[in-house]
Amino acid sequence: MSPTESEPSDAEPAENEHTAPAARTARTELKAAVCAEIDRRAGEITAVSREVLHNPETGFREERTARLVRDRFAAMGLEPRSGMAGTGVAARMDGRAHRRTVAVLGELDALLVADHPCADPATGAAHACGHNAQIASLLGTAYGLAPVMDRLDGDAALMAVPAEECIEVDWRLDRRAAGDLEFIVGKPELVRLGAFDGVDMAMMVHAGPAVASPAMSVSMTANGSLVKRVTFHGTAAHAGATPWNGANALKAATLSLAAIDAQRDTFRDADAVRVSQILTGGEAVSAVPASARMEVMVRAATVEAMQDASDKVDRALRAGALALGVRLEIETVGAYLPLRPDAPFADLAYANCVELFGAGEVVRDAGSMGGSTDMGDLGFLMPVLHPWSASGCDAPFHGPAFHTADHEAAAVAPAKAMAMTVVDLLADGAAGAERVIADSGPKLGTEEYLDLRRSFDAHTVEDPLERLR
Ligand SMILES: [Zn+2]
Ligand SMILES: [Zn+2]
Repeated sequence: MSPTESEPSDAEPAENEHTAPAARTARTELKAAVCAEIDRRAGEITAVSREVLHNPETGFREERTARLVRDRFAAMGLEPRSGMAGTGVAARMDGRAHRRTVAVLGELDALLVADHPCADPATGAAHACGHNAQIASLLGTAYGLAPVMDRLDGDAALMAVPAEECIEVDWRLDRRAAGDLEFIVGKPELVRLGAFDGVDMAMMVHAGPAVASPAMSVSMTANGSLVKRVTFHGTAAHAGATPWNGANALKAATLSLAAIDAQRDTFRDADAVRVSQILTGGEAVSAVPASARMEVMVRAATVEAMQDASDKVDRALRAGALALGVRLEIETVGAYLPLRPDAPFADLAYANCVELFGAGEVVRDAGSMGGSTDMGDLGFLMPVLHPWSASGCDAPFHGPAFHTADHEAAAVAPAKAMAMTVVDLLADGAAGAERVIADSGPKLGTEEYLDLRRSFDAHTVEDPLERLR
């Protein structure tokens, strides 16, 4: 390095050391152009966010929402591809060169919150996680980038993706048993089907429970998780006349819950372990319940902690089954891998968010969010970016009061942040994308990733009393 290079005359941040002033000026002009176009179409973008909010559909069943996205892509002159993992929709926007491909994602699905004011009365589906704004910000990003793609040296892969939420597990496992899908959430299924082949990095923005400030939290970690479908198989008997002839599956299940709760002290704070359950058991109060079913979700910050907590939950389930002498069936499937943000990617987005909102409105690292997302899965394969925007609502997430109240903050502003970041990645020979890939560290290949996902899966049926015989 020459003396002049080692002592730059200006005090620009490290990201710009690699970049000639002319290229910086060109990127500034491109960013101004994408933001102007997004502002021009802001009314359309917020209208999409509202329309999807009032037409919620749960994962792998997002038919109307997928049609909306396909129609908007087609209206832009793109060639949408539909039906990926059932309902996914993708379209490509080509640059003048094809050095790297950046995926811009929006999640199609809603939750089940039947008492939500915007719930579908027939299904109980409701956008209590704000994914409606993601569909709008995906389209907004596409609108902003369209006029400048011929000055970028890579491609944008626009993708509306199904089933981020891990719900309706029974229905999904039945579809899995029928061979319709392998993974119970959308992005892993899309990876398996090759939808991310040739994609180098992926970004999205999720609306979060903040009224207006911070406008954006750029980087956050999230837990990985496993789901267990558990059945206790007992023996029915008349609950009044001969209860001693029965084996009470519901009591076995409730003992197991106590044993799971007793494990909590064994989980390290740093691993952010959460174990959640829902339980149904018995058919009529006049009979000893012959069957009890439980869904268990085990979350943790690392793959190792996920496996450790899963093993402890299995022991607790066996303890309840053993005490009551009932058979135990456990079907375990991976839901999500932990999200570990890629700092070089977040640095680019942070700079753009500061430009849009001011430094006081942007949080660079927001720590652990406790919940899970299948964006974590993509992060094992490629650099990912998963910021959280304000939504105009600070009610608890996933509850009936959470909804997108400020569609500008949740859809229009994120579209600008994403389109500006795509410019940083793909302008100047896609040098920004090359740096993010080089500095984000090693990632798994698709087969290694699929092997890791499948390593969580197990299905056992056992009679704990057999162990004592
Ligand atoms: Zn959610
Ligand atoms: Zn969500």
